[in-house]
Amino acid sequence: MQYLQLLHLEIPSHRRSKIADKKFWRCNVCNDIHYEVADPEICPTCQAKNAYVEIDKEEAKNVMGL
Ligand SMILES: [Zn+2]
Repeated sequence: MQYLQLLHLEIPSHRRSKIADKKFWRCNVCNDIHYEVADPEICPTCQAKNAYVEIDKEEAKNVMGL
């Protein structure tokens, strides 16, 4: 319990929420979806460089066919 309280003191609240702030990214070339904090520099599926664009949750669902 004491350990947890220490962690909260050391990390400011705005910093903590930033860590958990993942976004959806879509590869322009192969439509691959990634859910990460930052877009991958190189697409692991088609090897395209800087091809990822940020999309919202609804678009991600559409692309994934959900
Ligand atoms: Zn790709």
